[in-house]
Amino acid sequence: MTISAAPPLTEPHHALKLVPEREREGVDLDRAARAVAELLDALGVDGTNEHLAATPGRVARAYAEFLAPEAFEATTFPNDEGYDELVVARDIPFCSLCEHHLLPFRGVAHVGYLPGPRLVGLSKLARVVTFFSRNLQVQERLTTQIAEWLSVNLSPRGVGVVLEADHTCMSIRGVRAAGSRTLTSALAGVVRDDERTRAEFFSLVGHPS
Ligand code: ZN
Repeated sequence: MTISAAPPLTEPHHALKLVPEREREGVDLDRAARAVAELLDALGVDGTNEHLAATPGRVARAYAEFLAPEAFEATTFPNDEGYDELVVARDIPFCSLCEHHLLPFRGVAHVGYLPGPRLVGLSKLARVVTFFSRNLQVQERLTTQIAEWLSVNLSPRGVGVVLEADHTCMSIRGVRAAGSRTLTSALAGVVRDDERTRAEFFSLVGHPS
């Protein structure tokens, strides 16, 4: 790497509280369960079958879980030693909910950044992915939100995020394109603008740029 190190900072560690972008208020599980029962009825399913008695409640709780982001403390550290190589977490598993069909899409995220003044705990990269996954999403927005979070909270010299996912709304219905994976990427700073850094990022995540 030819990029010079950022000047070391002496400020103490500090924690950022990642707050859900929109609070999920007013979750009413009983009402959701009644709506699921109504949906099944409208689809011609006999909900009086004893095997289905608890299904509406289970479905309501499952969707509530899909949609509940977990806030977390993202502790960052000053990059005192001026680390100036890419930091990449590969194959972070995620599952999100397609906002067009309410069906899951799942896969892996590769998240990397070229540090500026601050570093973040490695496990937090996975927490960021999970946080933004727990919402109604499209893969493109999810990718961008992860990259933006890193840009805003770490002021890195560059950011790269790649998501690979299987969309069940595409693989088990509609065109039934089983086995197809959708790739999206969001790049910023030197990962986007510097050819060598970009090539290194894509080689680290296992894709040619
Ligand atoms: Zn869909």
